[in-house]
Amino acid sequence: IFEQSQLLNTLPKQFFANLVTKVNKIVEQGHDVINLGQGNPDQPTPSHIVEAMQKAVENPKFHKYSPFRGQQFLKEAIATFYEREYGVKIDANTEVAILFGGKAGLVEVPQCMLNPGDVVLVPDPGYPDYWSGVELARAKMEMMPLLSENQFLPDYKSLSKDAVEKAKLMFINYPNNPTGATATKEFFEETVDFAQENDICVVHDFAYGAIGFDGKRPMSFLQTEGAKEIGIEIYTFSKTYNMAGWRIGFAIGNPSVIESLNLLQDHLYVSVFSAIQAAAAHALLSPQTCVDELVSLYESRRNVLIDAFRDIGWDVKAPSGSFFAWLPVPSQFKSSEDFSDYLLEKAHVVVAPGNGFGEFGEGYVRVGLLTSEERLQEAAKRIKTLKLF
Ligand code: PLP
Repeated sequence: IFEQSQLLNTLPKQFFANLVTKVNKIVEQGHDVINLGQGNPDQPTPSHIVEAMQKAVENPKFHKYSPFRGQQFLKEAIATFYEREYGVKIDANTEVAILFGGKAGLVEVPQCMLNPGDVVLVPDPGYPDYWSGVELARAKMEMMPLLSENQFLPDYKSLSKDAVEKAKLMFINYPNNPTGATATKEFFEETVDFAQENDICVVHDFAYGAIGFDGKRPMSFLQTEGAKEIGIEIYTFSKTYNMAGWRIGFAIGNPSVIESLNLLQDHLYVSVFSAIQAAAAHALLSPQTCVDELVSLYESRRNVLIDAFRDIGWDVKAPSGSFFAWLPVPSQFKSSEDFSDYLLEKAHVVVAPGNGFGEFGEGYVRVGLLTSEERLQEAAKRIKTLKLF
C-alpha cells in the first residue's frame, strides 16, 4: 500500500459520502427512499442537443485531439450567447476558457492565481468544491457568512479588515447553492466596488444562471459595470441544459485570469471532446424553449413543495432561484445532521444537512426540486406523520 500525498490528506472530507452510505443502508433494507438531498438534475438532456452530439460524433475530424483551449466555434457561440442573453460583449479569443464542467474551473482558479498562504474569501454556507481548490493551492480561506437577515448575501463591511487586506480572490455564487437566494444589481455593484478597492479578483459561480423564479431572470455578474476588469464568471451546461454527465462548462471575463486558466489547462488536458463542444454550441445557439420549460417545471415543483411544507406547519421560505430550498431545522433537534438522520430513519426522506456547506449552514437543511411533484407531496405527507410542527 502506498501512502497518499500530504496535500491529498489536507483536502476536506467529502461530507456527502457519509450521507450516501447512510442512505444506501436504508435502501438495502428495502425501503422506498425519497431522495431530496442530491443536486443531480432528473430531466434528460433535450433531444436536439443529443442529436447534435450524435451527428458530430460521426465526423472523423472530431476524432482527433481537439484543439488546445477548445474549438473556435464554441468560443464564438459563447460570445453570441452572452451578447444575446445578457447584452455582455465577450472576445471569443481572449476572454473565454472552455472547462470540463464548472467544478473543474472552480478548483483550477485558485491553483492558477494564488501562492501558498494567500487568502481567499469564501461564502459560508457554500458549495464545498471552493474549499478543495483553495486547499490544493495551499491558500487560506476566510469565510463570508451568508445570513438570512442579509438575504444570504455577504456583508462586506462585517469582514475582518486584516483578511480583506490579504485577500486576493473571492467566490460568490448567485443563484445560490445551497440557500436558493438570488443577487440584486446593487449587490453586484457593491461587489465590484469592494473588489476594486481591495484589489481582489472575483469569481462568480453562475451555475444556476438560468434558474430564476417569479419571472425574475438572474443577472450575469458581467452585466455590472467594471466587472470584467476585476473578475470572471463560470457557467456550466450541467443545470441549464441537463448536461451534468457531459462535463462541459466555460469561464469568461478578465483576460488575464482566462489566460492563467488556459495555461494551467494546457498542462492538464488537451480539451473537451469536440463532439461535446459541438453539442454545447448547438445548445447555446438554438431557441431556448427547453430552458424556459425547465424553469417552469422547477418553479411549479417549488410551489408544490413550499405549499405542502407550510400546510404541515413548517415555516419555510420559498427560494428565488437555483433548484434548492433552504429550510430551517425544527428547534427540537440539536443539529442539522440529527434532523437529517431522523428524517431518513423515520420517514425515509433524504435532506442534505446544512453543516455540510459550512459552519453557517448549521440550523438548515437543503432540499432539492429534482423529483416529481407527487414525490415532493409524498415527502411532506411522510414528514407530517412525525408530528414535528
Ligand atoms: N457550482 C455550484 C454552486 C454547483 O452546485 C455545481 C454543481 O452542483 C457546480 C458549480 C458545478 O457543476 P458542474 O461541474 O457540473 O458544471
